[in-house]
Amino acid sequence: MSTAIVTGGAKGIGKAIVEELAKNGINVVINYNKSEQAAKDLRQELTQDGCNVEIYKADVSKREEAKKLVSYAKEKFGEIDILINNAGIDKWQLFTDITDADWNEIISCNLNSAFYMTQEVVKDMIHNKKGTIINISSIWGITGASCEVAYSVSKAGMDGLTKALAKELAPSEIRVNSIAPGAIMTDMNKNLTKEEIEEVNNQIPLGRFGTPQEVAKCAKWLIEDSYTTGQIISPNGGWVI
Ligand code: NAP
Repeated sequence: MSTAIVTGGAKGIGKAIVEELAKNGINVVINYNKSEQAAKDLRQELTQDGCNVEIYKADVSKREEAKKLVSYAKEKFGEIDILINNAGIDKWQLFTDITDADWNEIISCNLNSAFYMTQEVVKDMIHNKKGTIINISSIWGITGASCEVAYSVSKAGMDGLTKALAKELAPSEIRVNSIAPGAIMTDMNKNLTKEEIEEVNNQIPLGRFGTPQEVAKCAKWLIEDSYTTGQIISPNGGWVI
C-alpha cells in the first residue's frame, strides 16, 4: 500500500487531495499548521469511511518541523512514496510595499517548505527507486501576477524545482511534477467581492472558478501515471493556453 504526505492538507485544495487519495486506498499523513480542528474533523470523517489517515502539526516553512513530520509519517506508515507540497500563503500588495519579512515569509512558506520536505523524503525514494512528488504551484508562477510578486516568484521557483529535480531523479524512477492551478474557490480567494469573482469568471473560457476536487483529480492522475515527469500541468479553465 502506498503512503502520502500532504502538506497543508486540512483545508482547501490540500483537503480535496487528501480525500481523493485516502478514498483510493492510500495511507495519508495530513499535515496542518493552524487548522487543528479542521484536521481532526477530516481525520474523523475519513477514519469512519475506513481510510488510513493520521494528522500531524508542523510549520513546514521550518526545516526542523518538516523533518519531524517526515519521521512521524515513517513511524506510522513506513516508507513514503508520495509527497504533495501543497502548503502555501499569498499576500496582495504593491511591489514597493513588500518588506523583507513579507518576502521571507512567502518564500519560506511556499518554496523553502518544498525544498525541506522533498529533501527529507527523497533519500528513501532514491534508495527504493520509487516515488512521486507533486508541487502545487500556480498559474501566477507561469504568467506572473500584478500585486503578487513574491507569490509569483515562489511559485515559479517551485516549477524550477520540479523541472530540475525531475531530470536529476528520473534515473531513480522518481517522477516530479507541478500542478499550477488557475482560480480555485478556497479560503485563499475568500476576500474577493461578488463583482471581482464575476470579473474573473468573465476572463476564464470555461466561465468559472475551478473546484479543489478538480485539482485533486489531476493529482490522482499524476500519481497513477508512469511516464509524465518534469511537467507543469495547469487546470485553469483555459485562462492561460
Ligand atoms: P487555503 O485554503 O488557504 O490553504 C492553504 C493551506 O496551506 C492550509 O492548509 C494551510 O494550513 C497550509 N499552510 C500555510 N502555511 C503553512 C505552513 N507554514 N505549514 C504548514 N501548512 C501551511 O488555500 P488553497 O487554495 O487550498 O491553497 C493550497 C495551495 O494551492 C497553495 O499552495 C496555493 O498557493 C495553491 N494555489 C491556490 C489557488 C487558488 O486559487 N485557491 C490557485 C493556485 C495555487 P493551516 O491552515 O493548517 O495553517
